Amino acid sequence: MNKVLVASADASLLQRVAGVLHQLGGVAEVVSSEEEITRGLHRDDTDLLLLDRRLPGLSESRLLRCIAEDPLAGEVPVVLAGQFSNAEEQLELLEAGVSEFIELPADPGLLAVRIKTMLRLVRRLDQMKAQALVDELTGVYNRRYLEGHLGVKFGEAKRYRHPFSFILLDLDHFKKVNDTLGHPFGDLVLRQTAGLIRAQMRGEDMLTRYGGEEFAIILPHTDLEGAVILAERVRLSVAEYRFVQGENQIRITVSLGLASFPNNDFSNTNELVECVDGRLYRAKEAGRNCLVYC
Ligand code: GH3
Ligand code: MG
Ligand code: MG
Repeated sequence: MNKVLVASADASLLQRVAGVLHQLGGVAEVVSSEEEITRGLHRDDTDLLLLDRRLPGLSESRLLRCIAEDPLAGEVPVVLAGQFSNAEEQLELLEAGVSEFIELPADPGLLAVRIKTMLRLVRRLDQMKAQALVDELTGVYNRRYLEGHLGVKFGEAKRYRHPFSFILLDLDHFKKVNDTLGHPFGDLVLRQTAGLIRAQMRGEDMLTRYGGEEFAIILPHTDLEGAVILAERVRLSVAEYRFVQGENQIRITVSLGLASFPNNDFSNTNELVECVDGRLYRAKEAGRNCLVYC
């Protein structure tokens, strides 16, 4: 559902915007101060800000600067409504982060089309952003997503002192699968392995494809004991599974490295990943199909 933050004290404008959104199955949230605007922009479900330049108490340039400098708020496009003296002024506003203008008093048809167009663009952008974070082959998150989220989740765990675990998993002798049964079979193994891992995870856990045949699992509220149980379940579920394509079938195994906070303390995610990668390497050295967590 579309949600538009409308910062205006003009009753007829508010009514018209609400009407347009109602038609689209969306809602308008009316805000009347810079503080309320910022709070609204920080909410995940805000799609658009319609800002009336005549809003009492508004310092337009300060607000636009704050929005542009705030990574959470800056994601939301700003439509500025009011009167504009010339193209030069509009150019400056565009440079300050405004995405679209609505000349007041607004023509009802134009107002509706402008809002609809902006919301269509926002939706498309959201879809593209989501696609950019998903691995096409397996449908799980990709490394870009991992890089964004690992730091956030790790930081939260350290700040609030709650447990946190991180696993790296690598398919054993996977090159042989490709070499003997072909790349398409290898792709199927990767897809189904992702499914087997996911089946063992809880809602807030995150699975990402870390590299070619490596997966990373973030377990935000899981201590070492819980993570070992999950990792062992994953290891066994893969080892027991028969991958089948046409006449061909194969069994494979995985090796895993795991580290948990606070059992191990790390000052940053690089240290964490290095440690887990080292443990994964030791799992390979130890003969594969095993988990190393200390
Ligand atoms: P190890 O047990 O030491 O991990 O051996 P391995 O053979 O799994 O490791 P290696 O790094 O030598 O080989 C990884 C292979 O993964 C090689 C590469 O062709 C394959 N691979 C990487 N990405 C994909 C992919 O998207 N699809 C398929 N089918 N294969 C892939
Ligand atoms: Mg590998
Ligand atoms: Mg491998």
